[in-house]
Amino acid sequence: MRKNIVAGNWKMNNTLQETKQLLNELMRQTKNTEAEVMVAPTFVNLESATQVLTGSGIEVIAQNMHFASHGAYTGEVSAAMLKEIAVNTVILGHSERRAYFNETDELLAKKVDAALANNLRVIFCFGEELSDRKANNEEPVVASQIANALFHLEASAWKSIVLAYEPVWAIGTGETATPNQAQDMHQFIRKTIENKYNSDVANSVSILYGGSVKPANAKEIFSKPDVDGGLIGGASLKAEDFFAIVNAF
Ligand code: PEP
Repeated sequence: MRKNIVAGNWKMNNTLQETKQLLNELMRQTKNTEAEVMVAPTFVNLESATQVLTGSGIEVIAQNMHFASHGAYTGEVSAAMLKEIAVNTVILGHSERRAYFNETDELLAKKVDAALANNLRVIFCFGEELSDRKANNEEPVVASQIANALFHLEASAWKSIVLAYEPVWAIGTGETATPNQAQDMHQFIRKTIENKYNSDVANSVSILYGGSVKPANAKEIFSKPDVDGGLIGGASLKAEDFFAIVNAF
């Protein structure tokens, strides 16, 4: 059956010293969790983070990567570079990458292919803008984001895909989708995948919710049948809050 996952996206936060300190606090609090726990520090701290977390059960994941294997792409990082430092999962398509770095579904399809070709697991993010939701357009928007970036994949490739539904209006805003809004969308996403592939693929894929998840709302959101965990931004920067969320399972 599908896995429960709680992943912390640290974004461009935490120096090396701060990274080590937070990871040590996290390790003290990680005991017998029901969910897979992951953290995504910035690129320059990934290798140190994997060393600190060796044997802890917490996975270090990357926030992004380039689709090319190597070459003249100043400032970028390839899948092979991540694999070499024992990073096995990458977040792709975060709304901040889409908004500030013009990442399109077409570009993301190439990144997904490169990640899978290098045996990386992908946490693929998508979600509607506030204007889409106000226009009752959130389902077609989400369906097209998934279809454009992922529906060229064979069914067998989906074992390496985790989905993260993150309504843009809820990210870093303190405004959370209600548990029912999250459940409705996750159910729609699963149905969309079933229609394209089959119920095995749809029922095996973990679908995370992201957008202002906090200790106070995590339990109710995670209790919904189609919500398999969370992608956590702000609250993942405080060990106590992050583990309260992890322990909401
Ligand atoms: C995110 O950046 O993926 C996110 C969900 O952020 P926050 O939890 O701060 O809304």
